[in-house]
Amino acid sequence: MKALLLSKESDAFQARVTDVDEALLPAGDVTLRVEYSTVNYKDALAITNTSPVVRKWPMVAGIDGAGVVEASSHPLWKSGDAVILNGWGVGETHWGCLAQKARLNGDWLVRRPAAFTSRHAMAIGTAGYTAMLCAITLEQGGVPKGSEVLVTGATGGVGSFAVAILAGRGYRVVASTGKASEEGYLKSLGASEIIDRNALSQAGKPLQKERWAGVVDSVGSHTLANACAQSMRGGVVAACGLAQGMDLPLTVAPFILRNVTLAGVDSVMALRERRERAWELLAKEVAPATIDAVTETIALGDAVGRAPEVLAGKIRGRLIVDVNR
Ligand code: NDP
Repeated sequence: MKALLLSKESDAFQARVTDVDEALLPAGDVTLRVEYSTVNYKDALAITNTSPVVRKWPMVAGIDGAGVVEASSHPLWKSGDAVILNGWGVGETHWGCLAQKARLNGDWLVRRPAAFTSRHAMAIGTAGYTAMLCAITLEQGGVPKGSEVLVTGATGGVGSFAVAILAGRGYRVVASTGKASEEGYLKSLGASEIIDRNALSQAGKPLQKERWAGVVDSVGSHTLANACAQSMRGGVVAACGLAQGMDLPLTVAPFILRNVTLAGVDSVMALRERRERAWELLAKEVAPATIDAVTETIALGDAVGRAPEVLAGKIRGRLIVDVNR
């Protein structure tokens, strides 16, 4: 099988697409014939060896995969089932899905909704599934429909889907982006207003003018701190990413003076029921036109070359990988 193999020998890192013997696939009760994978931000970190995502060497990259079960001894799955894999440390501690085959734990898999092909599912991928977990967090926090919500990193994978999902749910979405040229794209996804991310990315006061009833933040650092400082009384901020930085230079003022909730969102280890609920809602709420608008499909052999663009924030939406091309 072909696979994007990451290796480290005597501290020399290498990322390459190569033939790998299927007999070397790790232990697991489901063998997946992968159809599509994707290059998420975390994949790009792993492929470029920019941060310690990979915990075991050599590693097949790819935290997301969609395809068809080839063989299974797991009670939930049989040969021919269409499934999705997101996270669970795959591509980090367990060989991943930027490959023609993967051997996985059946407990990690979610049934692919009938509304989606494998390509659709990977266009959504961990990014879209995380955006839906964030939307659920705002809903559960009682953010009223019709109120103003902020999405940061808006042209990214999480951001693009968050804009589309929240606009579809009836919120007034303000999209923060570093790409002024993508105003048309963000408005086509449903954003009502675009703001320059520089307005949020510098150090700001602990409490600022109240504006946001809800926030989906994939950026972290000063941007997340300012989003909290600008949240309205009772506002909910869903924090899922660190594209600007892992730091959080924040005071407790928004929490103790405005009752703001800062809610963490982790997709990697989310329990099966949460995943199934998120994918069920994605199938209902994400239109195929949205998927096409946010997607570029590349071949497995292109993933290494394109990963730095993901980290540089140059990609609009999602890079899907056809692992058989
Ligand atoms: P993308 O690379 O697709 O998008 C990130 C976006 O952030 C960019 O497109 C850019 O948007 C913005 N950005 C990039 N660099 C900076 C910067 N220095 N300062 C401010 N904004 C910046 O990544 P994803 O959407 O896939 O992931 C976003 C983040 O969420 C990542 O940190 C990722 O690790 C995390 N994540 C976490 C998950 C979880 O389970 N908690 C799951 C999925 C992702 P623009 O140009 O529009 O400003």
